[in-house]
Amino acid sequence: MSRVAYVNGRYVPFRDAKIHIEDRGYQFADAVYEVCEVRGGRLIDERRHLDRLGRSLGALRIRIPMTRAALGIVLREVVVRNRISFGTVYLQISRGVARRDPAFPAPDVAPSVVVTARPLNAARIDALAATGIAVVSVPDNRWGRVDIKTVGLLPNVLARQTAIEQGAREAWFVDQAGLVTEGASVNAWIVTQDGKLVTRHADHAILRGITRTVLLDAVKGEGLSLEERPFSLDEAHKAREAFVTSATQIVMPVVRIDGHVIGDGVPGRVATALRHRYYRYAEAG
Ligand code: PMP
Repeated sequence: MSRVAYVNGRYVPFRDAKIHIEDRGYQFADAVYEVCEVRGGRLIDERRHLDRLGRSLGALRIRIPMTRAALGIVLREVVVRNRISFGTVYLQISRGVARRDPAFPAPDVAPSVVVTARPLNAARIDALAATGIAVVSVPDNRWGRVDIKTVGLLPNVLARQTAIEQGAREAWFVDQAGLVTEGASVNAWIVTQDGKLVTRHADHAILRGITRTVLLDAVKGEGLSLEERPFSLDEAHKAREAFVTSATQIVMPVVRIDGHVIGDGVPGRVATALRHRYYRYAEAG
């Protein structure tokens, strides 16, 4: 079956899906995006993803190109046309196409909107979660507003590549104070020896992950104790458990950090339980 993408008002064959070379997303990374999980053909946490999209667009003063209801229809249509049961839907909105000049185009131009969807291999992700993943640490050299979900992801690209080249699956960014901010495409968590969950508070230094937000509800609902504060690499090395969260992996146990074995070297009890209970707290639309 051939894939279909949505590009600026049209559903087109994936191979023909194109954006102009002077699109500001291409020229300046002047664009924002969202990745939403699709499960059983339904969008998971669409409301929260579209809320965050609105905040990202607002922070960059990019015009909201269509109503939320219309955007929801497009997302669903792309999922259906690509027959995605389990996978992701990707949405990108750039400031639009204009003569190459860093300042905002005047007069305003229409934002570019692209939506694609693709299947994920659930068995492969579950197999990874059953063994846990390795992460490596890298210096956090990103700009100061990574809470805005822009496509300016070069440090994340390089960090992930470093991880792969070192036989790990994810990279954790560490700030100048030696504190873990988040992963290249995930939020970072530990469980301390006395059983407290710790994840960095959401300020401008991390992306406020939707999975992270839902998990905060799950942690409360399951009666676990939580501290939203930074933690150091050293604290992570000594943790009982570590894990990462994102819309594509939900809760993914971490069993090695920079070669240090975490806990017993197998996925922890808390991470595994939260992975299983996650969908009690998420919204399926
Ligand atoms: N941090 C970063 C840097 C990310 O790119 C992502 C995934 N887009 C996340 C955290 C996790 O966010 P979410 O739970 O919304 O997928």
